[in-house]
Amino acid sequence: MHHPAVSAISHEVMAAPASSYDVLLVGGGLVGLATAWRAARRGLRVAVVDPAPASAAAASHAAAGMLAPISEVTYTEEPLLRLGLASLERWPAFAAELAADSGHDLDYRTDGTLEVAFGSDDLAALDELAGFMEKLGLPVERLTGRECRRLEPMLAPAVRGGLLAPGDAWVDPRRVTRALLAALERRGVTMVPARAAGLERSGEAVVGVRLAPAGEAPGGGTPSGTTGGGTPSGTPSGDASDGISPGGTTDGGSPGEAPSGRVLFAERVILAAGAWSGAARWLPPEVLPPVRPVKGQIMRLRSPEPVLRHCVRGMVHGSYVYLVPRGDGELVLGATQEELGFDTRVTAGGLWELLRDARELVPGVTELEVADVVAGLRPGTPDNLPLIGPTVLPGLSLATGHHRGGVLLTPITTALLMNEAGDDEGLAALCSPLRFQEQR
Ligand code: FAD
Repeated sequence: MHHPAVSAISHEVMAAPASSYDVLLVGGGLVGLATAWRAARRGLRVAVVDPAPASAAAASHAAAGMLAPISEVTYTEEPLLRLGLASLERWPAFAAELAADSGHDLDYRTDGTLEVAFGSDDLAALDELAGFMEKLGLPVERLTGRECRRLEPMLAPAVRGGLLAPGDAWVDPRRVTRALLAALERRGVTMVPARAAGLERSGEAVVGVRLAPAGEAPGGGTPSGTTGGGTPSGTPSGDASDGISPGGTTDGGSPGEAPSGRVLFAERVILAAGAWSGAARWLPPEVLPPVRPVKGQIMRLRSPEPVLRHCVRGMVHGSYVYLVPRGDGELVLGATQEELGFDTRVTAGGLWELLRDARELVPGVTELEVADVVAGLRPGTPDNLPLIGPTVLPGLSLATGHHRGGVLLTPITTALLMNEAGDDEGLAALCSPLRFQEQR
């Protein structure tokens, strides 16, 4: 049975081939859903094409939700820091508007990050980082081990010292996704449960998107039920055109149930397909973004009481681990970084590494119940900056390549796409997809 929204699309396409939508998003992870929401708030006609929006396969489902440009700063990534700070500044208004529009609580927290060091080498590295942060004018406070434990009594006695970044925040990305789906439903955005498989062109210009043929099942439905039926699916499955596709099980309906094989027309198509963006071989080569999957394994533990008040990041014998507390007692431990292509297997070694390091910092974690383990695929780029904005093809924009920071960067991404960011800091140029396309 066709969902009413989907039937309406088919009808519109046949009746008005010019342009059914002002904006069409390919990909319904956080980036695509948030962009759709901001566009709908401006009164635009919007559609989101995704076989399983916000499913377990999306990076947005795995993400810890740290909004931490200050504590995550690295020596070689000052442009990313500027972008992150610009987005962090937008988060309070973004969160308040989304909560109001959806009626959902996002568990948005602003208590800051406590970065701690375990061994003496870790402490030396942290001291050096603190000097770099101070040189950049970032608000950080150096703390002794005892001062760290005063802030967080569950920290191990072996913690040698730390840094407090009071400006950092965090949010629960799964709540944000649910809120976005609710807000989109309220604003009448069309959700299309299908996979994009081609661009519709009129000369040079992109005027729409072709959906995967009816024989290729679109995969699971949406968690929100906006498009009816199905559980979200997690495993990438075979794909006739590129061997890689998101979503992928057929629990959301039989082939032919979704509007597959059809064309949806739009004034502007925005590719927001996360880690799959670089594998979308249905795009012309000049606009195929240099995006690769970077695997991250992460676990969620459950405790009757919140174990920590701050987001805690720690360096343990040279490797990083973070612990992110939620208001309901959940504690998120993350995350591995692995270059293994489209591999989303959760491995014993990955989980062991996380638990081993987290236990050094907060010994009590091993007492907690395991709620969830998952592996997600970050959309990595060669320069670690996202690709946001118009491409060389009129009518086609990109919103992808957000790598480790897609949750943080969501508000600035939507602002750049909607021309609401201003350009005094050169952020649009920094993120322009043209920086790679012009080299080809
Ligand atoms: P995704 O969420 O992956 O969504 C992409 C969507 O595109 C999917 O729903 C997919 O079904 C759809 N799609 C793909 N191809 C097609 C097609 N052909 N047609 C239609 N739809 C398609 N970021 C932070 O800011 N803070 C953090 O603390 C943080 N922690 C992380 C921890 C882990 C373990 C991981 C893996 C990532 C983390 N990130 C974090 C990064 C963040 O999750 C990503 O940058 C962000 O979620 C990317 O969002 P997205 O919407 O671009 O991609």
